Amino acid sequence: MTVTSRLILLGTGVPTPNLQRGSASSGIILDDEVILVDCGHGTVHSLIKAGEDPLRIRNVFFTHHHFDHDVDFPYFMLTGWIMGRSKPVEVYGPKGTVEFTESIFKTFNIDISCRLETGIQTKDGLDIRAHDIDEDFSIGGEKWRVTCKRVEHLKQLGNFTLGYRFDMNDGSSVAFSGDTLPCDAVVELARDVDVLVHECFFSPEFEETGLVQDRKKKHPKLPFIHTGAKEVGAIARRAGAKKLVLTHLWSEKKLDELERRVRSEYDGKILIGYDGMALNLR
Ligand SMILES: [Zn+2]
Ligand SMILES: [Zn+2]
Repeated sequence: MTVTSRLILLGTGVPTPNLQRGSASSGIILDDEVILVDCGHGTVHSLIKAGEDPLRIRNVFFTHHHFDHDVDFPYFMLTGWIMGRSKPVEVYGPKGTVEFTESIFKTFNIDISCRLETGIQTKDGLDIRAHDIDEDFSIGGEKWRVTCKRVEHLKQLGNFTLGYRFDMNDGSSVAFSGDTLPCDAVVELARDVDVLVHECFFSPEFEETGLVQDRKKKHPKLPFIHTGAKEVGAIARRAGAKKLVLTHLWSEKKLDELERRVRSEYDGKILIGYDGMALNLR
């Protein structure tokens, strides 16, 4: 069966609060389901604003467990529970994913117990099937298949960050870098992909204040863990990605300069992401 595959950006910001941008989250919209990639702050509201029913999500993929990528997951699970979710949610992510999902039941024990005790809710809809996965894991159904690779982020903690690629049965494809330094794993993952969603570190404010350099001086062990604008362009060019969507954005300023820097390395279509941006993969 052929499906129409679309991408929606649900959160395009970073850990710092930003009223224009939630934190990291994207959805792949198929005929009757939405696959979620990361679940940062604002994900559920962003889905609803876009007219997508959170109850259609059966599969969640985490790139890593920085809080800007997972903090809305308890809200997603608990709101879905009280809204009538009836099927289990499959959750995949690097090491720490099972522990993270189990922690919800401890953190929200009072509320969950209360609702179960009064009989207003049953355990239906709270069923999480979590899986710690690693690179070269692959799984799929009749409409899509996912593959993943470790990317360069969280090195000091064992580098448990995954980039993902989804190939749909209509022939379309999308890859997600996750948070990462520029790395060959993303080039391999995104080979000839229709859409590459890549994080991008660009901030005129940081450049003006020298904040990054200052932090490096104060904390010499602090590794830099993101990809600059020019480097994102180079990754997309090397991968042969047909479209490049920039996300994980740190600033609203000088977006034309951001595009100019990416363009210096990449001549495909560049889209600067915003919350709610939706596009056909093909
Ligand atoms: Zn991160
Ligand atoms: Zn992040």
